[in-house]
Amino acid sequence: MQPQIAELIDTELGKRWHEKRSLTLSRLYNRRYDAAQRKEARVTIWLAGALYILFSITDVILIKDIYFYSVVMRFFISIAYVLIIDFQLQRNFDLSVIDKQCAIGVFSGYAAWIWLSSYSQNSLSVSYYLTYGTIFMMITNLYFNFKFKLAALSSGLIVATLLISLFTIFNVNLEFIVAISVLYVSSYALTLFVNWKLNEERYRVFLNSLHAEIQQKEAIERGAALLRLSTTDALTGLANRRATDDELRALWEGWQSSRQGFAVVLIDIDYFKRFNDHYGHQEGDRCLVAVAGAMARATARHSCALGRFGGEEFIVLIRCESRDEAGLVAEEVRHAVESLRFVHEQRPDHIGFVTVSVGAAFSGDVGGDKVERLVTEADRALYGAKASGRNRVRVFDRNEPRKVDEDGTIADLLRSAVVEGRISLAYQPIREVESGRIVAAEALMRLTNTKGKPISPAAFIPVAERTGAIMELGRWAIATACRDLIGNDLVPVVSVNMSAVQLKAPGFALSVAAILGETGILPHRLALEVTEGLEIDNQPEIESCIRELKQLGVQVWLDDFGTGFAGLSCLRKIDFDVVKIDRSFLQASHAPKGAAMFRDMVGLLKNAGHAIVVEGIEDEEQLDFLAEQAVDLVQGFHLGKPMPLAAFKQVTVMESAEAAKRSGTAR
Ligand code: C2E
Ligand code: MG
Ligand code: MG
Repeated sequence: MQPQIAELIDTELGKRWHEKRSLTLSRLYNRRYDAAQRKEARVTIWLAGALYILFSITDVILIKDIYFYSVVMRFFISIAYVLIIDFQLQRNFDLSVIDKQCAIGVFSGYAAWIWLSSYSQNSLSVSYYLTYGTIFMMITNLYFNFKFKLAALSSGLIVATLLISLFTIFNVNLEFIVAISVLYVSSYALTLFVNWKLNEERYRVFLNSLHAEIQQKEAIERGAALLRLSTTDALTGLANRRATDDELRALWEGWQSSRQGFAVVLIDIDYFKRFNDHYGHQEGDRCLVAVAGAMARATARHSCALGRFGGEEFIVLIRCESRDEAGLVAEEVRHAVESLRFVHEQRPDHIGFVTVSVGAAFSGDVGGDKVERLVTEADRALYGAKASGRNRVRVFDRNEPRKVDEDGTIADLLRSAVVEGRISLAYQPIREVESGRIVAAEALMRLTNTKGKPISPAAFIPVAERTGAIMELGRWAIATACRDLIGNDLVPVVSVNMSAVQLKAPGFALSVAAILGETGILPHRLALEVTEGLEIDNQPEIESCIRELKQLGVQVWLDDFGTGFAGLSCLRKIDFDVVKIDRSFLQASHAPKGAAMFRDMVGLLKNAGHAIVVEGIEDEEQLDFLAEQAVDLVQGFHLGKPMPLAAFKQVTVMESAEAAKRSGTAR
């Protein structure tokens, strides 16, 4: 609407005097003019009435023989009109109707005065007095803010009345008629012209002020939109990180200065990457919007600020008095998302729909003078929620001893793991299908807590990645695996798993080269496993690191093939020495559809010239199936579980002795 009006105003301002005004603008003008007019109309009308009565004085001087009647008439007309119009003004009658009545009032006053004057015997004074009639024209054309047409009509009537009465009721000579007519007509023309100019001017002032108002409104709206844009997340409409950071700092200041409690709640959509990979980014966006909506509804009842922290992470800042209160709101948020039943069939835990993990920390539970501590504790609680199965809420509790699987403890354990000997490697044999011989071994990292209880790699590897401990541990793993297996010549090749963090770190290939130098191992006997889930595709640093490793002569294997999104495009870009098919495909192959898919996958990889390792062989049947598929290499519990070096040594020694015996017997 605003731009259209602005355009109309521009056209209107460019119009010539005789061109018709825009209907829309005229209506707007009348509306605004109406309000302003009403304000001053009462004063105007009372003044006009008083002025009319005041002229009783000239009546007494100039038409003294009939002044009694004229004064009575003046009082009567003034009081009647002033009261009638004042009443209508107070009752908010239509202003155009009131204007017309005012015009009639002025004309009546004039006509009555002329008519009464004609009865006076003092004809000379009356002839002087008639010149006063121009004052009535000034009143219609200039004093009242009449529209041009009304002014022209009412003052025209005054002129006409004079002319008619000159010829009918007054006994005056022709010179006088000419003189007074010219005076009336010229006053009529001049005052009417001024009336027209004033009306035009008033309309222009209105147009210009409307224009200025629109511009100002637009500027304010633009400013507000910009502010909104800089503080909102474009996709979900929630507050963005910047806005939540500001809110967080404000709450923290409130806590520091007046102990007004609050909680930081971090929320992460479970298995969102898998969701995005499978359903596509558009559906991923739809999921984020739906989750944001559910959380907004859940938090609306409380004194909360909800924001998107980035990616699939959200934050809720709650004003609350205790950790229990924070926990309740956090639980409501989790429940709201769960109740959406937003389908997610790709998650490995068969829940089948989108859920969130939630971590919270209450200001009263966290010491220190930095707000970051609070966020860190909420973050730890969030990872705690994830580590204990996702779709749950964890609230940081300073009195609760940290459990072994909590990040804090794991992070502490990892820091000193190598020095204190809590980290070790287990080796799992990789065998040739045809001969059953061990041709390689995968090194798998193991961590034990202070009481010697093992912690799963699924729990500690992500912590090591987040804390950066993986860099040192990774180098340690490569060096240890090379010394243990290749140094002792137990297997031809040892494979070690790599994290994205390692591959992204500058100079990683150099550090591998240094280890090879230190241990004196031939590069092709070391294989580094890169997980497909890393989306090598979109990460140029990872791609170039892999290329450097390949230039060193180290083998690069693609792990967990089929679980990530990179898939075939990744195979085209990087020439992997071996592709390991994820065990979920083998597990699915007991059904005809799964078996067909598995066959297709093997066929495709073989055609592309890749050597294949199939992971997760758990029984003889699976092994037979793989033999049919002409798969080269296999790995799984059925063929050897991951074991410590000593056990692995034993197995290899035993197996090579048996092989030697067999070949001896054969000879
Ligand atoms: P991965 O590289 O795919 O390792 C194979 C995992 O499958 C190992 O689990 C192994 O114990 C398990 N496995 C082997 N055969 C079978 C089988 O027949 N059935 C079943 N159900 N499982 C089998 P683990 O040792 O728990 O390791 C899990 C993951 O942790 C590894 O997956 C790897 O991604 C990561 N990881 C392990 N060690 C390291 C390491 O040194 N560095 C890095 N960055 N990641 C590691
Ligand atoms: Mg692996
Ligand atoms: Mg694997």
